[in-house]
Amino acid sequence: MSAIRNVTVLGTGVLGSQIAYQTAYSGFQVTAYDISDEILEKAKDRFEGLATTYRVDHVPGATEGKAEEALTRIRYSSDLADAVKDADLVIEAVPEVLELKRDTYEKLGKVAPEKTIFATNSSTLLPSDLKDATGRPAKFLALHFANQVWKYNTAEVMGTADTDPVVFDELVAFAGEIGMVPIPIHKEKAGYVLNSLLVPFLNAGLALAAGKYAEPADIDKVWRIATGAPLGPFQIIDVIGLTTPYNILAHSGEQGQPLAEWLKSEYIDKGKLGVSTGVGFYEY
Ligand code: NAD
Repeated sequence: MSAIRNVTVLGTGVLGSQIAYQTAYSGFQVTAYDISDEILEKAKDRFEGLATTYRVDHVPGATEGKAEEALTRIRYSSDLADAVKDADLVIEAVPEVLELKRDTYEKLGKVAPEKTIFATNSSTLLPSDLKDATGRPAKFLALHFANQVWKYNTAEVMGTADTDPVVFDELVAFAGEIGMVPIPIHKEKAGYVLNSLLVPFLNAGLALAAGKYAEPADIDKVWRIATGAPLGPFQIIDVIGLTTPYNILAHSGEQGQPLAEWLKSEYIDKGKLGVSTGVGFYEY
């Protein structure tokens, strides 16, 4: 069992709100921090919305009062020093902008108690890009969640060479305590495990379709039938939304450009963005 009891989450956007709510749902005292009281008012609606989602998605216990009860364990603060004053753990989920994150850690490091562990939920930055700004590299690491934490409940735990192994193990235990399946990663790796596997896989599918070797639906079909996987690459891209792979390809150097252009001209420019727009590679 971890020694963590009080958790502060920085940022109440898409992922921050989910992490805060899931942590409160699991019985922890949570403080939700954001940059203004107006944003925190909106966060309250997000948390109410998550309570409803947990009930609709039949998360165990949600319809028996647990969904409402979780809301009572969340307190709100737009004052950083106040937000972290009792924190055993701070999980940072502020926008994916290096300077903004570094600035946040510089301020956080000055006001947080010495005992407090800091964890970043960054998708694309390495914890080494941030560690010196924290002022406490031994107590800093990444704890990476997937969107819709109540369903897709992996938590990739990844430290730097400076992370104290005791802190690493503590976070692995904590991830399990909040209903996640912890995935320890032994060395720093951009993309963690999930995206290190997923991005090349999706790109291989896109290259086959853009090169006119086979139709997207047939590429998905062979993958499903021959491997037993539930979804093929194009079904997965439709769920993610086509703009995310587009952005990754467009910023991945020369090799990615033809695929980015193909995605844009054949799908994105035609409003085919995936499940969210009712049409992508498939119609919904
Ligand atoms: P978001 O834009 O939805 O939310 C960011 C929140 O941070 C907002 O509420 C914003 O007001 C707040 N914020 C801005 N500046 C701040 C500051 N200085 N201090 C505290 N809060 C501040 O972003 P998101 O999608 O929740 O992503 C947050 C982090 O989670 C990023 O690092 C991202 O890479 C990571 N992540 C996102 C996903 C995803 O699917 N969205 C999945 C895994 C990880």
